[in-house]
Amino acid sequence: MNRKALSLLLLCMLLFSPSSTLPAWSDPSERVFDDPWLVLRSLLVSYPDRISLVDYDSVQGDWFLEIDGTRLYWARGRLLLKKDLGTESQWRAYVDYLYPDKIPDPSRFTEETIGRLNAELLAEQRRNALDFNPAFYTLLYGGESRRKIEASITRFDWLTARVSVHRSLVPALKRIEQRLNDEAGSNPEVARFLSQISRIEGYNWREVRDSTRRSQHSWGIAIDILPVGWGQKNIYWNWISYWNEKWMLIPLDRRWMPPDAVVEIFEEEGFVWGGKWHLWDNMHFEYRPELIVLGKWGYRGTPE
Ligand SMILES: [Zn+2]
Repeated sequence: MNRKALSLLLLCMLLFSPSSTLPAWSDPSERVFDDPWLVLRSLLVSYPDRISLVDYDSVQGDWFLEIDGTRLYWARGRLLLKKDLGTESQWRAYVDYLYPDKIPDPSRFTEETIGRLNAELLAEQRRNALDFNPAFYTLLYGGESRRKIEASITRFDWLTARVSVHRSLVPALKRIEQRLNDEAGSNPEVARFLSQISRIEGYNWREVRDSTRRSQHSWGIAIDILPVGWGQKNIYWNWISYWNEKWMLIPLDRRWMPPDAVVEIFEEEGFVWGGKWHLWDNMHFEYRPELIVLGKWGYRGTPE
């Protein structure tokens, strides 16, 4: 059996293996990030055209995935090239949170949760000082430098605007557009959402001051959809947190929300919506199919 057939067989075994073989942890988030088999398998399923193999390297003593013939080692979730092994502490884990299936609802937050959110905010800021190691996205999306990534950025008409995104996302975005337009025919909320888009931002090369962290927008895999006059509502925790330290308690009906059907359509195409983050960013959608896959397998973030 040749290598390609072997990879395909492995993929089929992974896809159809019963989920009951997964360990049943009471709090999946505690253990999931330390589980190379689970996380690498979610990546293999999410990028089947690009990741050809997940296996264990007994010489190196670590798991790896292979993209276009290049190995990336698990390296405590950092996904490192062999030459970078040993630098784990300089990087964030690539999958370091689980996506919840519901919006965290502040009306159910306890004092403990509010305190934890403040702590989470601080932790997030500390984590933001670390970036992902760029090797995985460099192989997946082609190019670490601005010049190289821009060779893969394409500009196309999408919904009501001209949007720049990584070209590998175009098929999924076209399917989303088709589904949103179909849905708008029978769902007035979706029709209203589409008619009220004022701006759509995709690719944006941003180097954050005092941080090496690169936004998902700078890989061309995130999209912000801004409605006309979101007016009296709140759309992004970071904008309001400057003057409201209880930003996490802003009720859901005081936040601008896309209709549920819109969020579902994006999720079914592999995008997470920032409105389900505790640090909510309700205009933001980003391509993270592995987080959607982990959710389908039962590994979801807790919304409270
Ligand atoms: Zn964004």
